[in-house]
Amino acid sequence: MSEEGNPMFGPGEYRPDPSEGITVPADLPQPEIVPYSRNDIRQPCPRCGHSAYRDKQSHRTLHDLGNLDVWCPRDLVITYSQHYCTKCRKYFNADLSDLAPPGSHYTHRVMDLAVRWRALPPGELASLARPPCLRALCHDPKLG
Ligand SMILES: [Zn+2]
Repeated sequence: MSEEGNPMFGPGEYRPDPSEGITVPADLPQPEIVPYSRNDIRQPCPRCGHSAYRDKQSHRTLHDLGNLDVWCPRDLVITYSQHYCTKCRKYFNADLSDLAPPGSHYTHRVMDLAVRWRALPPGELASLARPPCLRALCHDPKLG
């Protein structure tokens, strides 16, 4: 098995995030692991629309909101397909942009909630029982 011809992936490619550790304090409850699959045999190429066959599979973990009553975090462990377009001669990943922004470790739901909470005045923040992971996320510069 050769890895040749496998240089670059699309914007959804997983990149290690040096700040990831600070959002997951050791005292957090263990996240609920939810397997999720986006693993189609064929996907239309985002560049030319050509129906491209799956070349291989990869995995990506997204931090999601779990049970909001007990603030149990939830991790989506996504198996997604990587495709090779024979027309463009390029690889691309199955589209996960409806779940999370490209390169993000958090789902849209987490980002939306963090942004909304960050917009509240500080006095109101104190009255909300916010989960530690979201508290850290509120200070994440990537939220803009
Ligand atoms: Zn193409």
